[in-house]
Amino acid sequence: MSEQHQNLAIIGHVDHGKSTLVGRLLYETGSVPEHVIEQHREEAEEKGKGGFEFAYVMDNLAEERERGVTIDIAHQEFSTDEYDFTIVDCPGHRDFVKNMITGASQADNAVLVVAADDGVAPQTQEHVFLARTLGIDELIIGVNKMDVVDYKESTFDEVVEEVNQLLQQVQFNTDDASFIPISAFEGDNIAEASDETDWYDGEILLEALNALPEPEPPTDASLRLPIQDVYTISGIGTVPVGRIETGVMNTGDDVVFQPSDVGGEVKTIEMHHEEVPKAEPGDNVGFNVRGIGKDDIRRGDVCGPADDPPKVAETFQAQIVVMQHPSVITSGYTPVFHAHTSQVACTIESIDKKMDPSSGEVAEENPDFIQSGDAAVVTIRPQKPLSIEPSSEIPELGSFAIRDMGQTIAAGKVLDVNEK
Ligand code: GDP
Repeated sequence: MSEQHQNLAIIGHVDHGKSTLVGRLLYETGSVPEHVIEQHREEAEEKGKGGFEFAYVMDNLAEERERGVTIDIAHQEFSTDEYDFTIVDCPGHRDFVKNMITGASQADNAVLVVAADDGVAPQTQEHVFLARTLGIDELIIGVNKMDVVDYKESTFDEVVEEVNQLLQQVQFNTDDASFIPISAFEGDNIAEASDETDWYDGEILLEALNALPEPEPPTDASLRLPIQDVYTISGIGTVPVGRIETGVMNTGDDVVFQPSDVGGEVKTIEMHHEEVPKAEPGDNVGFNVRGIGKDDIRRGDVCGPADDPPKVAETFQAQIVVMQHPSVITSGYTPVFHAHTSQVACTIESIDKKMDPSSGEVAEENPDFIQSGDAAVVTIRPQKPLSIEPSSEIPELGSFAIRDMGQTIAAGKVLDVNEK
C-alpha cells in the first residue's frame, strides 16, 4: 500500500469504456482477490462463457450501480506504487452528470476515456467542460478500444487532434495532458506496454497514474456534511446519512443543520455498520443527533458545528461558464441549481460582468445577455433556502451545476455569499 491518496474521476461518453477501464484497473492492480477471480472464472466456464477473467469485476460494478446510494457507498479503490486511488464516481450511473458535480469537485485528477472508433462525443465535451470548471488539475486521456481500429496510429492521431481542439476550446491547460492508446477490454498499455502499438513509446496508463502530481492537502475548514438521506432506524431513531466533505465529527459535538436551522448533540456515529467515536473527510456516515426528528431535516441540508454553522445564502455571487444553451441567458432566468446534495431553483438576478475566458479579464460590465461559451460573474437568488459556501473558503461546497431541459447548461463556483 502507498501513503498518498488520490481521488480519481473517470469521465467520458457513454459506452466509451469507463466501467471496463475501472474493472481493468482493479484487476491489474490486484485489487480483486485471486480466489474470487478463480471462482468466477470457473463459473463462467461452466456456463460456457469462459475466457473473460475480469468479468467478475464488471458484474460487481454493474450490481453496485443498481443498488444506488446506501450508507456505505462502496467507492472502488486500487493502489499503484505511488498512490492509493479512489474512484469518485460511478461510471454509467443514470445521474452521471450530477455525480460529476459532487464527484468531480472532490476529484484531484481525471482519466478521460475516448473510444478510438467514435472520437469526441457529446458527453466527452460535457465532462471535459465540467472537469475544467470544477477544478480538475490533470487529465490523462485514454484513447480506448484501439483493438477495434486495428491499433492504427493514424486513428490515434486523429482522436488526439480532436481532443486537443476540445481542450483548447474550454481553455483546459493542455501542456500536461497525456494521451495513451489503450484497450481496456484487451488490457493494452494499461499495466504493460502493448505489442500491438510499437509506434507508441510514451507512458502506459499505470505509469501516467503514478506520475500524477500529489494532491493539494485537504483544507482545515470546519465540519461540512451534506445530507444525502434521512432514515428512521428502530432502536436508534432519526439517522441522517452523508459524506463528510470537510472537518471532523466527534460524538458529543454540538451541531446544526442548515438551512433547516435545527441542531443538537451528536449521540452516535456509525460507519460500515459499526459505531465510531469520530469521522473524517471522505467518510460516509450515518449519525444520530439528540432531539432531531425525521421531519426536522432533509436531503440538501448541510450539517456543521453550532459555533461555525454552514452558510445560508440570501443571494450569492458566482462565476459561471455557459456550456450549452439553445438561446441566450438574461437576468430573471430561473433554472435548477445542483450543489452538493441540494437541488434548488435559483434566479439569475443580474449578470454583472462578462469575462474573457482566455485572459480572465472583464470583457463587458452588465451585459444584457450571455450565451454558450461565455464566462460571467452573476448574482443569484435561491427560490428556497440553500446552504452554500464561497469556493475560496470551502471549495468542496463552493461549486454547482445549472440544469435545465434535461441537460447541464452551465457550471460555476461561488465567489461570495450574502447570508440571510
Ligand atoms: P461506459 O458506458 O463508458 O462505462 O462503457 P462500458 O465500459 O460499459 O463499455 C461499453 C461497451 O464497450 C461494452 O460492451 C464493453 O465491453 C466495450 N468495451 C469497452 N472497452 C473496450 C475495448 O477496449 N475494446 C473493445 N473491443 N470493447 C470495449
